[in-house]
Amino acid sequence: MAVPARRTSKAKKAKRRTHYKLSVPGMSTCSNCGEMKRSHHVCPECGQYDGKDVVNTTAE
Ligand SMILES: [Zn+2]
Repeated sequence: MAVPARRTSKAKKAKRRTHYKLSVPGMSTCSNCGEMKRSHHVCPECGQYDGKDVVNTTAE
């Protein structure tokens, strides 16, 4: 029986699994408020991206 030549590394395994993390593709949770947001897009709830305030969402 054929067997894998070498063990799959943690990084290789994690990179493969990025594609089947969620049922809705291209969605992730905001690291600031935890809301669902499109990955690589500014969060519509708090206006933050990559930990930085990008859009001013504070009510006037
Ligand atoms: Zn947010």
